[in-house]
Amino acid sequence: MSTPLPNRIQLVQGDITKQHVAAIVNAANSSLLDGGGVDGAIHRAGGPAILEECRAIRARQGGCRTGEAVITTGGRLPAAHVIHTVGPVWNGGHKGEPELLANCYRNSLRLAAENHLESVAFPGISTGIYGYPKAEAAAVAVREVRQWLAAHAWPQQVVFVVFDEENRRLYEQELAN
Ligand code: ADP
Repeated sequence: MSTPLPNRIQLVQGDITKQHVAAIVNAANSSLLDGGGVDGAIHRAGGPAILEECRAIRARQGGCRTGEAVITTGGRLPAAHVIHTVGPVWNGGHKGEPELLANCYRNSLRLAAENHLESVAFPGISTGIYGYPKAEAAAVAVREVRQWLAAHAWPQQVVFVVFDEENRRLYEQELAN
């Protein structure tokens, strides 16, 4: 049985690389290499072990498709693992973006469950360089995490990590609904 909501969801404003959770989620790109934004911050803070595993995954399966997710070590991060997922680039909203973004959350949560990870922290996938409107992205994130937690015992905790004030407000609104 799952713990009743909303106890299993937390909202934190800050830097995802500092979170003490079993896994942090990275908004990666499909090459699994050379990202900016949160990806750059994660590789800088976690050190070369993360990139080494990303390269190995790339050699094995040719990167990661939009909506899918892969897991690596967290290197020197406080989090033991990084789940890399590739969000959709916003293209007006009629190119399957909402379903692809939902897949990012579901596939990341599935990897966390399969690996029995107790806690997972998510950034606002696609809401930076990829241009997904923040309000719509927050709605997808909260809906997908709630649906997952209602049906699964793992992960036990999910932390939404927002960087800016605007995202904090949007997540607060979604979580209050
Ligand atoms: P994408 O390419 O998927 O849009 P970005 O890395 O550009 O990914 O941005 C995703 C979100 O992560 C944005 O909302 C951005 O403000 C946020 N972000 C950037 N750096 C960090 C960080 N260190 N911790 C948490 N969130 C971050």
